[in-house]
Amino acid sequence: MVEREAELAIQRLRQEISRHNRLYYEENQAEISDGAYDQLVMELTRLENEYPALKRKDSPTNTVGGRPSGTLKSVVFDEPVLSLGNLHNVDELQDFYHRTAALLGDENPRFCSELKIDGLSVVVNYDNGHLVRGATRGDGHQGEDVTMNLLAIADIPRALKFPVTVELRGEVYMSRHGLDVLNQQRSRAGQALFANPRNAAAGSLRQLDPEVTRERHLSAFFYEIRDGAKALGITSQSEALKSLTRWGLPVEHHWALAESFGDLVQFIERWAIERHTLDFDTDGLVLKLDNLEAHTIVGQTQKAPRWAMAYKFPPEEVLTEIHDIVVSVGRTGVLTPTALLKPVQLAGTTVARASLHNWDIIRERDIRIGDFVFVRKAGEIIPEVVRVETELRPTGALPYAIPTACPECGSEVMRMAGESAYRCTGGMGCPAQLRESVIHFASRDAMDIDGLGEKTVDLLLESQLIRTVADLYHLTREDLLKLPRFGEVLSDKLIAGIDASRHRSLTRLLFGLGIRFVGSRVASLLASYFGDLEALMSASQEELEAVPDVGERIAASVVEFMAQPVNREVLARLVAQGVNVQEREAQKPLTRRPLEGQTLVLTGTFEHWNRREAEAFVTDLGGRVATSVSNQTAIVVVGEKPGESKVAKATSLNVKMMREQEFLAWVANLPIAPETS
Ligand code: AMP
Ligand code: ZN
Repeated sequence: MVEREAELAIQRLRQEISRHNRLYYEENQAEISDGAYDQLVMELTRLENEYPALKRKDSPTNTVGGRPSGTLKSVVFDEPVLSLGNLHNVDELQDFYHRTAALLGDENPRFCSELKIDGLSVVVNYDNGHLVRGATRGDGHQGEDVTMNLLAIADIPRALKFPVTVELRGEVYMSRHGLDVLNQQRSRAGQALFANPRNAAAGSLRQLDPEVTRERHLSAFFYEIRDGAKALGITSQSEALKSLTRWGLPVEHHWALAESFGDLVQFIERWAIERHTLDFDTDGLVLKLDNLEAHTIVGQTQKAPRWAMAYKFPPEEVLTEIHDIVVSVGRTGVLTPTALLKPVQLAGTTVARASLHNWDIIRERDIRIGDFVFVRKAGEIIPEVVRVETELRPTGALPYAIPTACPECGSEVMRMAGESAYRCTGGMGCPAQLRESVIHFASRDAMDIDGLGEKTVDLLLESQLIRTVADLYHLTREDLLKLPRFGEVLSDKLIAGIDASRHRSLTRLLFGLGIRFVGSRVASLLASYFGDLEALMSASQEELEAVPDVGERIAASVVEFMAQPVNREVLARLVAQGVNVQEREAQKPLTRRPLEGQTLVLTGTFEHWNRREAEAFVTDLGGRVATSVSNQTAIVVVGEKPGESKVAKATSLNVKMMREQEFLAWVANLPIAPETS
């Protein structure tokens, strides 16, 4: 390679690495695996060594990467917080071992081997046993102050059992189980899922609200005394780990001492397999010289210590075939593609599906049905398609086209401005969205309807017993007994469950409605601020934005939801059915229903309801349905093909007639909450 070419290659690599650093550290959205990233850095290091004239001080090979995100207060470290060098195979391990042995003049240096926790690195100071400061690593010179957030993590003690003054390093992480729970909640709330525990941990820590950190159930492990060990008479890494444990700090307990090179190899072989049984992600081992004095002897480079190395496990990837791509439609209409694979063994489990995450990935990686692809467990949990083996592409495989119509209801599919998601525009007319929203309404954190699981929701929808969540409150024992599998016990249980849900708080109701961006927390803010549904329904954008922590986006979403006639109708019917709409659960009796005392006549067929539903709708709101028009009739609701005689009679008696749509809009705008005296 001539020097000019090398220069260009180096420039490209530096740019690329910086971009990945930004994605990883600032946006919490890594695009490539650690392995691939390391390869880029290795290639750059190799070129820089070959052409020393092209070395630069600000090259990513000299900096840890990433800068603080700017929203949190920054912390400047006295001593740089180092990263770790990587080893990828036994040959590299052997080199490192011999190099270190030679530096120390000790043939068999003792190593402390620890699991490398895949989370977010933090530096924490305890002063006389009290936690006084916590920071992220940032770029190694300057991090972010996350003291308040760290205090919200249950694993991290505010006070130690001994009044020591030390600066520690540790890792904040999210357990696999914790991520599953969080992602389930997020999926119910219509929020984007975290791809892996590392992103989830970083996103939960590097933000301004300690309450958010608390809710996310993060954990932590401590593994290093950065400052203060000497004063305490601690002379080895293994003693340090024992001390941390004694002080009451969480320490990952699978660490072990290696007395020889053979021990190290054994640990590596063992953990390459056993790591899959842990409830947290680990992508390698960290091998540290045990003797702390030896650390000063071997020293460090600008970026990493020479007394420790990360031994990275190879990312597990397997080749398999995509036999189909299926698209599912979520509660908020978001279309999610999933690849169906020829089943393969991967990291101890059989994998038959892989997440494609989003449509951009399908396009960028040009993933097609019939392709042979490499699949990997991203963040060790969700298998993902890494890349296509284009050499093996079957002839005739076409680029995968993003659906223009919803696979469930055929409605048009749109991409919202500024979002990578495509959505079905069918709303509650889309069976998939309706199904998901009823399930969400009944779920534990929402209305918590006992006896209403997914299967039952399917049955109710198939048998057309319900069209909206309001219909749930109309169900009778007799309705349910007609359903397959539904005996008296199940029917009574469900009726009781629905009944009990009438008394839930407004917070739960709001959350259950599935308004975009209104998760449990926002629902609770809104409910306690406005106190009852009616106040919230009539709140303007500005009034909503006045609620602490409610921004423009949430406010706009609430206004939009409340403005839609279908939603207003559902709310009106819920109120009429005695569903509590106040934040305090003590419910005032309904003193007024909008159609109270009015007699209506229905004629013709309706788009929105069958006859039974239309009658239920009127009676729910306090009205009475009569079969013939008289001067007692308040309104005649006219559907398609109305009875001619009824229309004629109404005309002659000058009774108000309304078309279905008009009637709905009118009802939707009637006040719905009980009048307060
Ligand atoms: P890397 O981010 O790939 O450079 O790996 C280095 C990082 O591993 C460190 O910055 C620590 O945040 C993290 N790490 C996780 N577990 C340990 C451990 N037991 N000892 C040292 N570093 C660890
Ligand atoms: Zn649809």
